[in-house]
Amino acid sequence: MLSSDTGLQFLKPAEANAEIVNHAGYVRYEADARVHIRFACDRCCALSDKVLTFHFSHILVTTLPEMEEDGEYIEAPDYQLDTDSLLRDDILLELPSKLLCRESCKGLCPKCGNDLNVGACSCKGKEIDPRLAVLSSLLTD
Ligand SMILES: [Zn+2]
Ligand SMILES: [Zn+2]
Repeated sequence: MLSSDTGLQFLKPAEANAEIVNHAGYVRYEADARVHIRFACDRCCALSDKVLTFHFSHILVTTLPEMEEDGEYIEAPDYQLDTDSLLRDDILLELPSKLLCRESCKGLCPKCGNDLNVGACSCKGKEIDPRLAVLSSLLTD
């Protein structure tokens, strides 16, 4: 159903519940959506699956107010709304640009590319920040 240029894959069509409520003169669109995605972790590049949930809310108007750009209002001039394309736009807009397989992902070793979640590599520990290196040489003297 959806595609994205960030290497992210949608495992099945988005599930959504949308309702349109008339509230004292203005019409509000509310939707809850769930998407099942597969993505490459931004740190370790491992493929992971995740379910993301969203809530979207818009006010439907027949004419957009001037200077309105934040997407709160949606124009529906003839009282028709293409909920599929609205949902797709909303989801693509809200997708995080960086996804991690887990919050504590250790990523890959910058030297050898070893996956540090699996185990430490034999590269020498952390590179010492050159500014700290000066300090440590002062301290050891
Ligand atoms: Zn990861
Ligand atoms: Zn390494």
